[in-house]
Amino acid sequence: MATKKGLGSVKRFETRYGATTKQRMFNVESQYRGKRLECPFCGKKNVKRVFSGVWNCSKCETKFTGRAYNPSISSKRTEVEL
Ligand SMILES: [Zn+2]
Repeated sequence: MATKKGLGSVKRFETRYGATTKQRMFNVESQYRGKRLECPFCGKKNVKRVFSGVWNCSKCETKFTGRAYNPSISSKRTEVEL
């Protein structure tokens, strides 16, 4: 099994899909995979990706929508008081 060094999480695709595609995917995935990102609500580094566009902060127990590969919420959004 030939594996490329430095492609981390993308190694799971082994020889499939081509080097350029995998390099692009690695650039995206390395920003969130295996990391805890900053929560836009409580500011703690505890945000994990649930699936595309959905993020969960285990500290303040908030599940929110962000961007597909990035938990930042739109600047246009206004918080709704319930
Ligand atoms: Zn939070």
